[in-house]
Amino acid sequence: MQFYSTNGNSPHASLEEVVMTGLAPDGGLYMPERIPVIPRAFFNNIGEMSVSDIAYIVATTVLGDVIDPSELKQIVYDTFSFEIPLRKIDPDIYALELFHGPTLAFKDVGARFLARIISHFSRPSAGEVNVLVATSGDSGGAVAAGFHKVPGVKVFVLYPERGLSAVQRHQFTSLGDNVYPIEVMGTFDDCQRVVKEAFVDSKLREKMLITSANSINICRLLPQMFYYFYGYSQFLRKEESVPADGVVISVPCGNLGNLTAGLLAMRMGLPVKRFVVANNINAPFTRYLAGESFTPAPSVRTMACAMDVGNPSNFARINDLYHGDREAMCRQMRGHAYTDEEIAASMKDVYTRDGYVMDPHGATAYRALRDDLAPGEKGFFLATAHPSKFPKTVEKVTGVTYKNQVVKAITDVTSHHDVPRITPSLPALKKILLKTT
Ligand SMILES: *Cc1c(COP(=O)(O)O)cnc(C)c1O
Repeated sequence: MQFYSTNGNSPHASLEEVVMTGLAPDGGLYMPERIPVIPRAFFNNIGEMSVSDIAYIVATTVLGDVIDPSELKQIVYDTFSFEIPLRKIDPDIYALELFHGPTLAFKDVGARFLARIISHFSRPSAGEVNVLVATSGDSGGAVAAGFHKVPGVKVFVLYPERGLSAVQRHQFTSLGDNVYPIEVMGTFDDCQRVVKEAFVDSKLREKMLITSANSINICRLLPQMFYYFYGYSQFLRKEESVPADGVVISVPCGNLGNLTAGLLAMRMGLPVKRFVVANNINAPFTRYLAGESFTPAPSVRTMACAMDVGNPSNFARINDLYHGDREAMCRQMRGHAYTDEEIAASMKDVYTRDGYVMDPHGATAYRALRDDLAPGEKGFFLATAHPSKFPKTVEKVTGVTYKNQVVKAITDVTSHHDVPRITPSLPALKKILLKTT
């Protein structure tokens, strides 16, 4: 399997090159040359399979020629060390709970897989690998946990000065060792821009080996396909009959990485009727689907902070998958955008009705699915973070408190004096990188 750049001006690259560099030299994002289709027979048995079994089959279908299957099996089984249950919320709506991993968000899946793939390819002789990650909330913790104490790897987490919950921030500022948090005086988009600038800075690249742990890196996205198949498998198990034209899946979107993974799963043969694109008010892709031009805008803070992305980088991949054909996109995706008030109302409504607590991100996806489903249709939404990651918001909206000691201890932490703060500029980042390595 080889990979090409969405900008079309870089040579095709191997999985190793793609994983170890993140962004293509021409500034594009890497895409797999082929998207293999899984034989139909797989779907006859999928209802009886575990997440690891499913992940192993999908992974070998895509990467079987580049990583030895027995090693791939180990990587996949290590990645999915936690449950991903599908829970019924309404008669026609299920939640796929992706938040039972170590940092309580779906990003554990991509980060754990990526960390293992990077370890697989790293060679002591090539020097230390420096992993850069810009976080809007959950990537930082997941990536830091995934790489913490991994020999030969340093992780730099760039996060915006405002917007993260105390729990989210604590997850990567408290680790130490090979994890270096950097506070950026700006938004998530500023963090992401500076990281991208670092990748195309050839002088920096001569000095050090750097790669990205954002969904720029295709190895963050590939494992996210696996749980779409597993969600479908559980849906089959729970429903007596499955709509012949597939299920509807709602995805809470920020950088559009999770959605891109879902679209790839559909190309591999997963029976999806359509995807629902769930946004907060930062919604350039939803506006694009509604007919406007794709215009990145500065991000605005909302209660679903991990989705506060004004310039989603994976739009480049989606556009590439559809060859820029918006009508084709609209046949397979529908977008919805919600204000904080609307998201909170859904959290409250579902809690009052069913006693089910949703975090603001999952709640956005629930709301979009509720509004989008036609009578007779059924589907599931991705519940991307555990509600206890946002204890203040959840308590304010539903009255539910998380007395959990860990959460309490974390919430009490208010200052991190030793974290460097930088202006959102490449020279400022370079200074820290060169000093640390
Ligand atoms: C990152 C994140 C999202 C958005 O996912 P993308 O792949 O960036 O679109 C949604 N919910 C939560 C909880 C997140 O951490």
